[in-house]
Amino acid sequence: MTQNRGRNGPVEHGFPHLAIVRASITALFRRLSADGIRAYDTSFAPADAAFDAGDDLHLGAQRVAAATVRALRLPDARMVVSFREMEQAATVELAAGPEYFVEVNDRFRTHRRDLAAALAHEVTHVLLHRLDLRFPGTTENEILTDTAATYLGAGWLLLDAYREDALTHQRFGYLTPEEFGYVLAKRAALFGEDPATWFTSPQAYEAYVRGRAQAERDHRRAPLTAAGPLARRRYAKARRAGAGTDAGAEVGVGAGAGADGSAYRFERDGSGAGLRVSFPCPVCAQRLRVPVGGRLRARCGLCRTVLDCTT
Ligand SMILES: [Zn+2]
Ligand SMILES: [Zn+2]
Repeated sequence: MTQNRGRNGPVEHGFPHLAIVRASITALFRRLSADGIRAYDTSFAPADAAFDAGDDLHLGAQRVAAATVRALRLPDARMVVSFREMEQAATVELAAGPEYFVEVNDRFRTHRRDLAAALAHEVTHVLLHRLDLRFPGTTENEILTDTAATYLGAGWLLLDAYREDALTHQRFGYLTPEEFGYVLAKRAALFGEDPATWFTSPQAYEAYVRGRAQAERDHRRAPLTAAGPLARRRYAKARRAGAGTDAGAEVGVGAGAGADGSAYRFERDGSGAGLRVSFPCPVCAQRLRVPVGGRLRARCGLCRTVLDCTT
């Protein structure tokens, strides 16, 4: 189901769902593997979303759906799109396939440029269904769906559907525009893409820029060597506190825990080994654990990114 909240009300902004978004990226890497993610190296092409008043309604809708299925690498799946009057933007029946029935809101008969966005979300539901990947709560599962759509190359359409002007306050999905921007920037960094030219909505582009700034901050957290002076000072202080812990104990980060996503923890295991620090990978959010005591390069076991750390 795609919810189209806030159509006539204020749009929620900022990063309220960041923890679930990060957990969604980790879950995607775990389910697909780093190589599996790498296979999604081509984003949904803006031209494939083209669907205007001159197109035949049903042929056009089928064409956009087929492009979405290709973008999400579901070669044998086939979407059967129908229009009806409904509360939500769209809904898909999660059956065994290979044929899936997608119902989309009647308003897409005329508001055609956003049909691709609605279909991107629904086809991602099908992909996750086939991967048997889901989160327990409905909201968490919808956040996983939007994050997967975006990380795998089709969700930028959902962000581009975000517009605010005198007549519409529209957004799709469960992520805020900034959160879509955050995931999109993570994908762009992984694949060396520049999504900036794809946007038709100026508000969506601005949200992307804010999300990208947040994504870049993930790469400047201690103990990463690229951390700024303030983050480094906080880290050094927490490390001194951590050095005094007993075997088997864990010491949290102290100042800055969570709020800036730093979330490193110092640990000393029972084997007499030295102090270690664990922290989330800036790419896939899986936690790494490395020895404390200098500059080192660590490879994330999940996404295989090599990280330059000063622990
Ligand atoms: Zn949904
Ligand atoms: Zn990683």
